[in-house]
Amino acid sequence: MKKYSITKKAFQMYHSYNPKYFPLMFVQIIFENVSPYFNLWLSAEIVTALYEGRDRGELYTLVAVTLFGNLFIRVMGAATNRSGATQLEILENHQAAAFNHKTLSLDYDKIEDPEIRQHRRKVKENAWINSYGVIRMRMEVQRLMKCLVNLVLSMMLFAEMISLIVTVGFQWLGLVLFIAIVVCIALTVLSQSWSIRKITLWNKNVADQMLDENRIDGGYRPDGMDNRIYCQQGIISKLREKIARQHLKIFSKTADMNFVYGLPMSLFSNFLEICSFLIICFYCTIGAFPVGSVIKYVGFLQGMIQGIADFFAALNSLKGNEIFLKVYLDYFDIRNDMYQGSLAVEKRSDKKYDIEFKNVSFRYAGAQDNALKNISIKLKVGERLAVVGMNGSGKTTFIKLLCRLYDPTEGEIVMNDFNIRKYDYRQYLDIFSVVFQDFNLLAVPLGSNVASASVWDSVKAEMLLEKVGFGERYAKMPKGLDTPLYKNFDQDGVNISGGEAQKIALARALYRDTPFIILDEPTAALDPIAEAEIYAKFNEIVGDKTAVYISHRLSSCRFCDRIAVFDQGRIVQMGTHDELLEDETGKYHELWYAQAQHYT
Ligand code: ADP
Repeated sequence: MKKYSITKKAFQMYHSYNPKYFPLMFVQIIFENVSPYFNLWLSAEIVTALYEGRDRGELYTLVAVTLFGNLFIRVMGAATNRSGATQLEILENHQAAAFNHKTLSLDYDKIEDPEIRQHRRKVKENAWINSYGVIRMRMEVQRLMKCLVNLVLSMMLFAEMISLIVTVGFQWLGLVLFIAIVVCIALTVLSQSWSIRKITLWNKNVADQMLDENRIDGGYRPDGMDNRIYCQQGIISKLREKIARQHLKIFSKTADMNFVYGLPMSLFSNFLEICSFLIICFYCTIGAFPVGSVIKYVGFLQGMIQGIADFFAALNSLKGNEIFLKVYLDYFDIRNDMYQGSLAVEKRSDKKYDIEFKNVSFRYAGAQDNALKNISIKLKVGERLAVVGMNGSGKTTFIKLLCRLYDPTEGEIVMNDFNIRKYDYRQYLDIFSVVFQDFNLLAVPLGSNVASASVWDSVKAEMLLEKVGFGERYAKMPKGLDTPLYKNFDQDGVNISGGEAQKIALARALYRDTPFIILDEPTAALDPIAEAEIYAKFNEIVGDKTAVYISHRLSSCRFCDRIAVFDQGRIVQMGTHDELLEDETGKYHELWYAQAQHYT
């Protein structure tokens, strides 16, 4: 059983997502599989009764038992089938939720790690391409249950047949046929195991190849406006044709392999059917059992043989599936290694949280160069700090480190004299509100988005929406704060523009009312009037919070107390707008005049 340890571990996990499913499945399988045996047994009785000319009453009783028995079995089968489908849906939902939860609870650096991204994609694509992984495990466990039921039922009839054969003696021809059957079963099982092993390995190879191709395929968005404007359908079609050709090659090779590897098994099982038919006919001719029983015994013997073959096929397939299950389980085993800290973050009404970067450098996993180089800066309580610099100069990375989405590679960040790693991670995150450049709103009610919770303070939410300039649009929202955003889950949902979304994201940051507010290009999607309004109210909006503000529009940084100029991962200048502009050889001067020339 050690051989199946991966399947066992995965099964325990999968079963725990809905412990009702597999027991129910077992009952359903009993009802589904008892029917053919029941009918074989009764039709044999009816044929024998007719053949022997028994009285009509007995015949009618047999027919009535057949009808009502079948009715009962069908009704029970349909009922378990119905609840089986519901329970499967619950199981799959819980499974998907667990996978999602795992992803969301990973450290942020793990989410961005290319290897882990690839791993996540592999789990999904293994399931999509050939239903490998937990789906295959579920199907094969069900097949094993089915075999078990079939074997128990057919063994009962086998015992009955043997007891009848004993009455006439085994006979040499019967023995030869019996040995031929046993040999054929062994050969069928062996050839099946060999063919499943070969085909699974091939499919693993296919799944790995398809992973790259699917990624190319995934680059196309049917709603991508630029794809249309630039007539990229042509490029996409060529790409698809190339992929289709590769797929065709792979699939025709797969079909060839299925044919070649499946051939010996088909031959042995055909021979097996012939032998089982012959052995039953032989014993019937020498009077071991009546003619009517031929149908019954041939049927069950084939059922039993099929059951044995299926049993081994399911075991082999489970074994082959372990390569895929391992990929699935390994994903759940990825461990978070970010130190969580235990020091409580003091709740301070004076918002006096002094944060200082001390010689901080940072390099992304797999990158050649440091994204931040020897950064030292102290954030003064209540100040407005602007962070400016060219694309790729390290501004967003600086924010990610400040919010501890990553830890520095070198140096340290301290808050009120303690390394920020020492603080309870959740409590530390709770002192920040951020509007990221690629912020994400959810397809839930507006109020829920603003409050980041399912209940909200309506007065506060409406006041903040008004403050960030969303008031006019809000007045047109049919259900106010209950209006769902987007139409993903609700046809009554409203679509909003990029600028409107940015205003909601800003209101969400303010709703949290934290000591720090970080704004990464918070007005990039706003029209000039809305932008001007936000700047006019900036001091009122930010209040006494410490604000860090990233912007490409240097004119919007003028009202900040200090400006830090980033260049190639370093802070190259720091000061007020006027101080920085005085240095004519400085980066700020260069950036300012590069932008200003369009306005003069
Ligand atoms: P900015 O915000 O100033 O445009 P970033 O902080 O986003 O700059 O990026 C700084 C550098 O780090 C760039 O060279 C960028 O390519 C690199 N970088 C950013 N994010 C990642 C990442 N997740 N993995 C690897 N490199 C990254």
